Amino acid sequence: MERMHLAKEDIKSNYDGGAYDLVIIGAGISGLSTGLMWLKNKGGKKTLILEKNPYPGGYVTAYERGGYVFETTQLFPDIVEILRYLGLEIDLKPYTGTFMRRLVVHDGTVEEYRIPAGAENFTTYLCDVFPGDAGKIRKLMAYNVEMFAQVRKLKALPTPLDMLATPFRAPKVVANLNRTYAELLDKFGIVNDRLREVLETFSSFTGVPANRAGAILTAGAMLSSMTRCFRPYGFFDSFPAAMTRLYQQWGGEVRLRAEVEKIVVNQGKVVGVQVKGDDGMIRAKRVVTTIDPMIAMRHLVGDDHLSPQYIEKLEGTVMSCSSLNVALGLDDAIDLAGMDLDYPYNVVSTGRGTTEKLFDGFLSGNNAFSPDCFHLALVCPSLTTGTKNTLTLRGVPFGMSDWSRWRKQDPARYKAEKERWGDFFVGIAEKYLIPGLSRHIVVRDVATPATYARYSGSPTGSIYDMAALVTQFGPKRLPMKTPIVNLFQPKFAHGLYGGMMNGIQVVDLMLDRAFNDGNSLFTPKTG
Ligand SMILES: Cc1cc2nc3c(=O)[nH]c(=O)nc-3n(C[C@H](O)[C@H](O)[C@H](O)COP(=O)(O)OP(=O)(O)OC[C@H]3O[C@@H](n4cnc5c(N)ncnc54)[C@H](O)[C@@H]3O)c2cc1C
Repeated sequence: MERMHLAKEDIKSNYDGGAYDLVIIGAGISGLSTGLMWLKNKGGKKTLILEKNPYPGGYVTAYERGGYVFETTQLFPDIVEILRYLGLEIDLKPYTGTFMRRLVVHDGTVEEYRIPAGAENFTTYLCDVFPGDAGKIRKLMAYNVEMFAQVRKLKALPTPLDMLATPFRAPKVVANLNRTYAELLDKFGIVNDRLREVLETFSSFTGVPANRAGAILTAGAMLSSMTRCFRPYGFFDSFPAAMTRLYQQWGGEVRLRAEVEKIVVNQGKVVGVQVKGDDGMIRAKRVVTTIDPMIAMRHLVGDDHLSPQYIEKLEGTVMSCSSLNVALGLDDAIDLAGMDLDYPYNVVSTGRGTTEKLFDGFLSGNNAFSPDCFHLALVCPSLTTGTKNTLTLRGVPFGMSDWSRWRKQDPARYKAEKERWGDFFVGIAEKYLIPGLSRHIVVRDVATPATYARYSGSPTGSIYDMAALVTQFGPKRLPMKTPIVNLFQPKFAHGLYGGMMNGIQVVDLMLDRAFNDGNSLFTPKTG
């Protein structure tokens, strides 16, 4: 099976001391998308991506332990049009039947739902399972579809004229800007606890409870992920590797192991970046940062260059949760193919209120997982990649708690906590989904919030950028234009879709709407 192939010698940097047209900080999906969109639309020839890790991809990666290859990400959303626009070919497996096998545990009894792919199929399914609520379900789903369609009519950075037109172009979006997903369900009179549990699954995707998640974002995440979803036939790191290769073919430069320690500002304008260990500054006409916004603005730029209002906005921003992942390499005796697991998600959780409790635990800096309160996703990548049996168990939301401190100062405790939580997650998977699982484990690798902090540089180990709260949605998110002239920070949303859109929006902004006409979603002027 092909892994990411980017030898060190593939990575070139020809810095000659002249100013780059564009320097991008971070070679995750947002940074790579920015580089590709910029070069495709002839933003400027001299383009450089700086990445602190020895490989591109950021959170989208794969790694090897004990002869097994494990991945971070699991679901490839519908970004097919964007890939086509770039001419990027990734061999994708489409999921057309069941989108999610969903188990809800109530006092020891388990209810199972099979959420089908496709909004219409989902509506029909819910009406069959909850016939008493069929009318409300149809109205809610139709409303969601219309609301999401109206998002397409919005502009990313609206002009005063666009703002005047918005209530006419997208009335449902305007009506729901400040509405939580729970309030949207209330509006349609959905009070049946069991039905709400199923519907609220989609807000818990990002570790945010329905009573704090934005209605538009949740409906959008639900419709976009379930309508057309995929995973690569190969490993996930083949995606950023292909993006990097194309970016290099188009003349872009990448420097790996290059950690930016300073964004250099002169009289309110960005003039370059300083890389750790380098003698001089790299000069840049424009800089796009795709890293944790707190680090970028408060540490790399520094408070001296920011207004008290902007600092207050940064301080009030809630970064998203972290996660605890247990990657398992299993022996050949287990028949994963016969276990009904080949779906983008298999989710098992306790009943309604679980995500609220887990989110409050995360906000308090810890986690609230216990045998009576859990939310766990299980995915089985080897059923697609065809390699040795692998399984991933993912718990969200987890807080950083003491994980980073244990990792640095108390390795014995760090190891013991990893073992404890590894046992806990395997125990849940074994009890509800795969009886006898522990007998088949050959390799067990636990990734903690400290692991994610190390991957990304986010001190909170946040895996979904800013939390998807209603208070941080759309115009209330940190703006792409920072207070520093020619320094941009695209933060449309998280995920592979959000990351690709970050690149589209920021390049469109830098090029005065030249290729996407200022649209909030991908609608390029030319093919
Ligand atoms: C376990 C896990 C599972 C997930 N599953 C899915 C999924 O199934 N589907 C989905 O769509 N999304 C998923 N996500 C979310 C998705 O992976 C991320 O939202 C997305 O990859 C973020 O991309 P990014 O480029 O914005 O940020 P990042 O991936 O964080 O990239 C930022 C890059 O900047 C680099 N960097 C940081 N600081 C510096 C510095 N000072 N100098 C230079 N470089 C720096 C980092 O090393 C990193 O490579 C998952 C995330 C995790 C962690």
